[in-house]
Amino acid sequence: MRTLTALSLCLPAMAGAPDPAQVANPFFTEWKTPFGVPPFAEIKEAHFVPAMKEGIARQKQEILAITTSKAKPTFKNTIEALEQSGQFLEKVSIVFGALSSAETNPALQAINREISPLRSAHRDDINLNAALWLRVKQVWEGRKAAKLNPEQARLLEVTYKGFKRAGADLTEAQKTRMRAINAEQAKLGVDYGDRLLKATKDFKLILDRTEELAGLPEGVRSAAAMAATKAGLEGKWLFTLDGPSIWPFLQYSENRDLRKRLLMGYLERCQSGATDTKEIASRIAVLRVEKAQLLGYKTWADFILEENMAKDAKGVYGLLEQVWNPALAKAKAERSELQAMMDKEQPGQKLEAWDWRFYEEKVRKAKFDLDEEALKPYFALDKVRAGAFQVAGKLYGLTFTELKDMPVYNAEVKVFEVKEKDGRHLGLLYTDYHPRPGKRGGAWCGSLRPARDHHKINPVATNVCNFTRPTADKPALLTPDEVRTLFHEFGHAIHGLFYAGQYRSLGGAPRDFVELPSQIMENWSMEPEVLKLYATHYQTGEIIPAALVERMKKAGTFGEGFATTEYMAASLLDLDWHTLTDTKVQDVNAFEKASLDKWGLIPEIPSRYRTPYFNHIWASGYSAGYYAYIWSAVLDSDAFQAFKEKGNLYDPATAKAFRKEVLEKGQTAEPAKLFHTFRGRDPKVEALLVKRGLK
Ligand SMILES: [Zn+2]
Repeated sequence: MRTLTALSLCLPAMAGAPDPAQVANPFFTEWKTPFGVPPFAEIKEAHFVPAMKEGIARQKQEILAITTSKAKPTFKNTIEALEQSGQFLEKVSIVFGALSSAETNPALQAINREISPLRSAHRDDINLNAALWLRVKQVWEGRKAAKLNPEQARLLEVTYKGFKRAGADLTEAQKTRMRAINAEQAKLGVDYGDRLLKATKDFKLILDRTEELAGLPEGVRSAAAMAATKAGLEGKWLFTLDGPSIWPFLQYSENRDLRKRLLMGYLERCQSGATDTKEIASRIAVLRVEKAQLLGYKTWADFILEENMAKDAKGVYGLLEQVWNPALAKAKAERSELQAMMDKEQPGQKLEAWDWRFYEEKVRKAKFDLDEEALKPYFALDKVRAGAFQVAGKLYGLTFTELKDMPVYNAEVKVFEVKEKDGRHLGLLYTDYHPRPGKRGGAWCGSLRPARDHHKINPVATNVCNFTRPTADKPALLTPDEVRTLFHEFGHAIHGLFYAGQYRSLGGAPRDFVELPSQIMENWSMEPEVLKLYATHYQTGEIIPAALVERMKKAGTFGEGFATTEYMAASLLDLDWHTLTDTKVQDVNAFEKASLDKWGLIPEIPSRYRTPYFNHIWASGYSAGYYAYIWSAVLDSDAFQAFKEKGNLYDPATAKAFRKEVLEKGQTAEPAKLFHTFRGRDPKVEALLVKRGLK
C-alpha cells in the first residue's frame, strides 16, 4: 500500500538555490542554542513535513553512496556508514516524537498520520534494499578476517540480524507483502494512540454538590476544583482519567456509585463509537502473526523474544507462573481482608472492583495505622526530585544544576545540567511532570539526543510523567507510587546519560533488561536512610518521623497481592495475544475474557490494562514484552541486594561496577553477560519473591 508520495521521495534532493521554505525552517540550520538543544520556540508545525521529507531524501542519498561504491564492502564503508546515515532525519524525528507524546494537538496528529507511512516505507526501502543487504552479508561473511574490535563486531552482528529480521532474505513477492503489512501497522498504531488519547481526555466526571465529595482529602478537592475552573466549570469539581485524579478518588471517595462511574469510565474506554480501538487491536494481532510467519517464526512472541533475555515464550511463561500463583494467592487473602472490612461497614454487600482501593486504604489504616495522605506532605515534588539527584550523587558523584532560560516545549518543563564528580559535563535532563490535555497517559523517559561517539556527543534525556499538580496553596505533593515512578524514570535517564559506547544503535537495552536500570532506583526511594535525605515536610521542613517510616515498613508488602496480580494479568494477556498462531480475527472482549479466566484472575481485580487501551503492546514497543517489568524486577531486586550485602546502600565499589558493567554498556554485549559480570553469577528470583511478600 505504498502511496505515490512515498515513491516520489526516492528522488534525490535537488541541488541549487535554497528553497525559501527551508530558509526559515530551523531543522535546516545549525542550532545555536545552549548545548545545541532543539530551539522549541522557533519550531513550527509547518516545519515538520518538509524537514522529514528532506531527512528521508538525504538518507536515501547516503545509502545510495554505500550501495554504488566500487570499493569492496568493509565494516567502515558499509556498516559504519549505514550507522552514521540518517542523522538529519533523526534530528527531526526526535523532536517530533517528543512533542507527539508530551505536547500533541490535532495539527501534530494530522502530521503524524501523514508522515508515519512515509517513514515506514523509508525504513523498508533500507531494510529490503537488495544491494545494501548483499554488502552487509559480505562484511558479515568476512568478519573473522576483519579484526574488528568488540563494539564493531557487535554492531555488525546487530545490523546483520536486523536485516534478516526485517525480511531482507524474502522473495520479491514476500517483500511486497511485508511493505504492505508494515504500512498498515504504522497507520493502525497511530490511529490506536490517537483514539486512546481522545477517549482518555474526553471522559469527565463533573460534580456540583459538596456532599458528593465525601471522604475526599482537601488536596484532591482543590485539585478537582482547579481542573473544573480550567475547563470553564467554575464552582464545580472535575474528575478525569488522568492518574492524579482517578486513583485518589477511588481510594477515598465514600460514594460507591461515583467510584463505580469513574472506574467504569476507565475500564470501558475505547469500546465504542469514534474512539473504538477493538478492531484495530485485533487487526494488529493478525498482521503480527502474518509477519512473524513470513519471517519463518510460528508466533509474534517467538519473533520478539528471540532478541530478548528471555529468548522464548516458554521461558517467559515459566517465570510468570512462578510469580503468578503466589501473587494471586496473596491477592485472594487481601480480598478476604477487604471484604471483612466492608462487612462491618456495609453488611451484605459484595466487594467489587470499584471498592478495592477504597477498602485497601481503610484496612491499611486500621492494620498499620498508615494513611497515604499523611505521607504526602513529606513528598513535595521538588524535594523528591532533589532526593533522586542526591542518590545519584552518592552513588556516582553526579551533580545537577537547574538551567534557566533554556528552550522548552512547555513552560512546565525544567532543564538540569548533569555533571560528573570532576565537573565534566555529562548531559542534560529535562523533567516534565504534570498531566496536560496534549500529553499521553503514564510516565516515560525519552531522549532529545542519544549518546554516541564515546560521549563526544553528549546526551539529552527527558522524564515525562503525569503527577499530581500543585494547587493554589500547596506545592505538588506526591503519593508513594508517584515517588517510585519519579525514581524509576530517573533511573532510565541515568542509563541513557551513562551510555559510553561508540554507536547509537548499541545504546539502550533489550526490553526485558531495560527496566533494570529504572527499577533498581525505586529500591532506594523508600529506604529509611534515603527518606531521611529528602522526605522533609513541605511546610515545617521536619524530616519524616521515624515512627511513620517504621509504620510504612510494617505495612510493607500489604497491597502487593493486588499490584502484582493486576500487572501480571496484563503480562499474561499480552503474551496470549502474541502467541496466536492463526490469522483469524478475534472478538477482542471474548478473547480477553477467555485469557484472563484461564489464568483464574478474580473479578475484583481488572487487568492493569485491557486490550482496547493497552497502548504498551499495540502502539508502543512492548508487544510480547510487557512481562519485562517482572523479568527486570528479578534482576533489580538481585542487583540491589549486592549493595545490601555490603551493608552500604551507596557502596562505592558496587556502584562503580554497576555503572561500568551495566549502565555504560548499553547493548554492546549480551545482557545476561552484563549481569553476570556485575554480580559474579546469574540472577536469582528469591530476592524478588521476598521483597513482594510472595514467599
Ligand atoms: Zn520503565
